[in-house]
Amino acid sequence: MERQQDSVLRQVEEANVDYIRLWFTDVVGTLKSVVISPTDLETAFDEGLGIDGSTIEGLTRTYESDMLLAPDPSTFRILPEYDSTGTTGVMMSDVLTPDGEPAASDPRGVLKRALERAERMGLEFFTHPEIEFYLFEKPWRRGEPLQPIDDGGYFDYVQRPTANNYRRELISQLESMNIHVEYSHHEGGPGQNEVDLRYADALATADNILTMRAMTKKVAHSMGQVATFMPKPIVDQPGSGMHTHLSLFQNGKNVFHEPGAEYGLSKTARHFIAGLLRHAPEYSVITNQFVNSYKRLWGKQEAPSFICWGHNNRSALVRVPYHKPTKGTSSRVEFRGLDSAANPYLAFAVLLGAGIAGIEGEYDLPEGAEDTVWDLTDRERRAMGIEPLPSDLYRALDSFEDSELMAEILGEEVFEFIIRNKHDEWAKYRNQVTDSELASTFNAV
Ligand code: GLN
Ligand code: MG
Ligand code: MG
Ligand code: MG
Repeated sequence: MERQQDSVLRQVEEANVDYIRLWFTDVVGTLKSVVISPTDLETAFDEGLGIDGSTIEGLTRTYESDMLLAPDPSTFRILPEYDSTGTTGVMMSDVLTPDGEPAASDPRGVLKRALERAERMGLEFFTHPEIEFYLFEKPWRRGEPLQPIDDGGYFDYVQRPTANNYRRELISQLESMNIHVEYSHHEGGPGQNEVDLRYADALATADNILTMRAMTKKVAHSMGQVATFMPKPIVDQPGSGMHTHLSLFQNGKNVFHEPGAEYGLSKTARHFIAGLLRHAPEYSVITNQFVNSYKRLWGKQEAPSFICWGHNNRSALVRVPYHKPTKGTSSRVEFRGLDSAANPYLAFAVLLGAGIAGIEGEYDLPEGAEDTVWDLTDRERRAMGIEPLPSDLYRALDSFEDSELMAEILGEEVFEFIIRNKHDEWAKYRNQVTDSELASTFNAV
């Protein structure tokens, strides 16, 4: 059989590829790119491509700035009309140390290690993300009001064709790269859209999310718009979440499914959900990594604020969607906490780790909550054993710092980097004097 590397070399030749971009991310999840010429591709496969990682957030300690990029041939794709300068291929890449060992701080490596741990238990982790984002008119400068491209709402068919054309163009570009879009629609906010990627193993999904984000921004740019995955760009409008459906397979069988059980949920699924709930305060810094993320979580508009699960409950952190009892293979849990600005590699690693901790520790699943948790009083919620998610980044950081589970899943380097980086973000935020304070206090005292 043809080796994957040889297959890529052949495709590069046949499609007359002019440039190859090697993509990877920093700890925050910002996409990084190095361009090489096709003539250097074979060497890059054999030896890796040397880069100086010292300026990349969280990637290296100061004394080890030399890093290698190892392109993953299974992720090779040709970018659709990326620019006018020539045909461009792209590959996700792993970051290695100069000795060829996985770099401790490469987010893709963190997820790979988490998946290998699951694999040793015979488990495969699949994910299906619903990615929400906003489209605004360009140009936009800080301080000016944002102009959403339309005033449509949930599932609206927008009469002004902008959003529809936009999604059609984005989806056709993603499909041409073999990234399958299950469906897409206008979301609740003005100019807000959702694109759902078909479920795949978690590594492929995380890779695809990064490509999807890059293409979303690129298509917006080409149409005179700007796209953002910021969790809460507009006060009083819905934030952008990335609800993700999670499932575990063993020998090709969905282990979340048990015929005849309540909601078709197996014991394994119940322990997994219990793990997601119990460790939620610890992993929130990863699933909701910015100061702004907590404005989405606490801004209502269908975002979860409380740690509970439910069957038909859209205010819960975890929802078990309805599926026909005959469709056993589609048993899954929808995790609704995640936002669109998370680093998907780290987010999937911590969600998997929390769920597996639940399976290994045989955590008991608390009662499901079918009420709209939002409408209860604090006392009622407490009586039901329902705790809130962290109210802000600082509280999330507080739980994260004390978490042995997070240190273990992420590895000491990523763990320590996030603590430093997020304390800095919080200190900068706390130092602001906001318009809202001026409005409420200046003339009042
Ligand atoms: N935008 C909402 C959120 O932030 C989700 C809305 C929906 O998909 N029903 O999670
Ligand atoms: Mg959806
Ligand atoms: Mg949605
Ligand atoms: Mg959803």
